[in-house]
Amino acid sequence: MNVCQIRMMSILPNYAEEIMAYAVRHDYPDIMYAAAPLLLEKPLENVLAEFPPAIAIAWTRYHATWSTCARSAMLILPKFIKPYSQPKQTQNWDQYDGCNCGQPIDSTVNKIIMVLAEGIAPLKDLSWTEKPDLVCCAQMKPAIVNWRASVDRSIKNIPDLSTFV
Ligand SMILES: [Zn+2]
Repeated sequence: MNVCQIRMMSILPNYAEEIMAYAVRHDYPDIMYAAAPLLLEKPLENVLAEFPPAIAIAWTRYHATWSTCARSAMLILPKFIKPYSQPKQTQNWDQYDGCNCGQPIDSTVNKIIMVLAEGIAPLKDLSWTEKPDLVCCAQMKPAIVNWRASVDRSIKNIPDLSTFV
């Protein structure tokens, strides 16, 4: 790497878009791969327009892997919440599982689904799962902690862009 490339790397994660454009223009794959994860939140079509064809194909597969991870984060959520819930006793909610605190688990599930509906962005930093008002009560917290750990593991298993090229 020359001085200019080293400097580009050191500026990341700032100016990821500009640095990516620079790396594409001068064909610096290492810098492309370093900047790529920082662009995951951008709309696919905007980012693809910047890439040479080989990188565009790799990017599509890389992005799809992240999207799959985001979907599965939603799909596995009930499995983690279930052990901390119990059937509601009242007539009105008898088809729902409730938390021991009396809230239907939907209140927690819906809040999480609303965040995950944003796509890949919420996966880039899962600290939002620690917000105290995300869960109905302290009893439900371990469910979210376990769920987050599982999502974290899936994210760590996503290979970097270079493996898709
Ligand atoms: Zn609760």
